[in-house]
Amino acid sequence: MADGMTANEVFHSHSSLTYDDLIIMPGFIDFGVQDVKLQTQLTREITIQAPLCSSPMDTVTETEMAVNLALLGGIGFIHYNNTIEEQARMVRKVKRYENGFITDPIVLSPAHQISDVDSIRERHGFSGVPITEDGTLQSRLVGIVTNRDIDFESDRTITLDQVMTRDPITAPKGITLQEANRILRESKKGKLPIVDENGILNSLVSRNDIKKNRDFPEASKSADKQLMVGAAISTRPDDRTRLAALVEAGVDVIVVDSAQGHSVFQIELLREIKATYPDLQVIAGNVVTRDQCESLIDSGADGIRVGMGPGSICTTQETMAVGRGQAAAVYHCASYCRSRGVPVIADGGIRDIGHIVKALSLGSSAVMMGLMFSGTSETPGEYFYQNGVRLKRYRGMASIEAMDSGGGKRYFAEDEQVRVAQGVSGMVMDKGSVRNLVPYLCQGLKHAFQDIGVKSMTALHGALKDGKITFETRTQSAQREGGVHDMYSYEKPAMGARERVE
Ligand code: 5GP
Repeated sequence: MADGMTANEVFHSHSSLTYDDLIIMPGFIDFGVQDVKLQTQLTREITIQAPLCSSPMDTVTETEMAVNLALLGGIGFIHYNNTIEEQARMVRKVKRYENGFITDPIVLSPAHQISDVDSIRERHGFSGVPITEDGTLQSRLVGIVTNRDIDFESDRTITLDQVMTRDPITAPKGITLQEANRILRESKKGKLPIVDENGILNSLVSRNDIKKNRDFPEASKSADKQLMVGAAISTRPDDRTRLAALVEAGVDVIVVDSAQGHSVFQIELLREIKATYPDLQVIAGNVVTRDQCESLIDSGADGIRVGMGPGSICTTQETMAVGRGQAAAVYHCASYCRSRGVPVIADGGIRDIGHIVKALSLGSSAVMMGLMFSGTSETPGEYFYQNGVRLKRYRGMASIEAMDSGGGKRYFAEDEQVRVAQGVSGMVMDKGSVRNLVPYLCQGLKHAFQDIGVKSMTALHGALKDGKITFETRTQSAQREGGVHDMYSYEKPAMGARERVE
């Protein structure tokens, strides 16, 4: 009798199984963890270095998350619970990001007071502030204020024109990071403003950042060497304008964000996008059945986002009674999509590295996560304390709170008089920085691949197709056995939070 069952055998019975219901049988190891590569297809045309995407949610992905995830090999999808200009600006910022250069430094004008520098220090922890004529980035640099200029000043209402260092050392736009480093070292300054030929402030290089700076050989980059970024739009007619602005801003991939993707609205939109922007990569969804995949692929989808109801903040299955266990959804959709050459992104319900491993082993090429990245320092929103615990908000885009500020677009619920929430709003604990979390997830995945006996995503999907990777379903007691149990007390190590990036 063979050990375990092929995925086909597991899902034959039409049970709505999910990740926790399954366990993977170990394979044979004849290579090291360092030999495992996590490179994967996000869409027909886009390859990324790590199979990790962040959800287009207003408590998860804005510029900072997208920049950092792309640096670490994944990709972020910027949410659309904002104005068209705001979303396009975020996309543009990711595309313009240059490692080591702060392209949107905080700037003040000569008319600001020392107290304004104090509040910047309080909020952000630094105090080297460039001063421009009108206090904006696109204006002529007239000075810089650092700690040394204001330390001993007792009157904090003094204006900055009286204390700033005029004619600071600057460097011209286009300079390399190495050259900027050399100038900072030799001049012993903390901040180096970069200006264009007319003296307009362009960016800033910071000595502290350089000390922390490292190379990101695995960064997800487009052909023009810029970081890759995705963005979400809805199927509503007025989001055609949003799409045009995102394309203009340089977005690499669009996700059509809909809780139930099999709709005439999405099909029409996909056809239109493919006719207007034939080179733009589009991920369609969300779906959970083969039929749904087929019609979205027929309409032009380059990637399929799978998941209806598994999200941590989601109440769809309880409220609508529609959806599917996420493991079953991923397996059935991925096996169909593979036959059409279209990658699947398993969206929602990922709590741990093991869930990512299962999602990929069932045929998805990447996972999309909200919960996993929520509470990291790269998410939008401020930390706050409750009962001594450092927390951040995390909310479903169909929670009443998010719908109030425009998030209902993916649920066809925007104009309704009586709105039925399909998500909740809550708090999660501080998880530190994704700069620690993502390398931790990647290393964990490499170990799992080694245990399964595959060195790459192609090998993993090959083994799935050939029935070489096998599974068993787990009883409730097997699941209990597989977790920590019967301890008087124990501490679970926080994922990747050994050291914090401040
Ligand atoms: P998580 O990683 O938190 O388990 O799931 C994140 C995913 O849940 C998102 O990528 C999105 O597909 C889905 N989602 C986000 N907000 C809501 C919501 O309010 N209701 C439902 N049903 N799903 C949501």
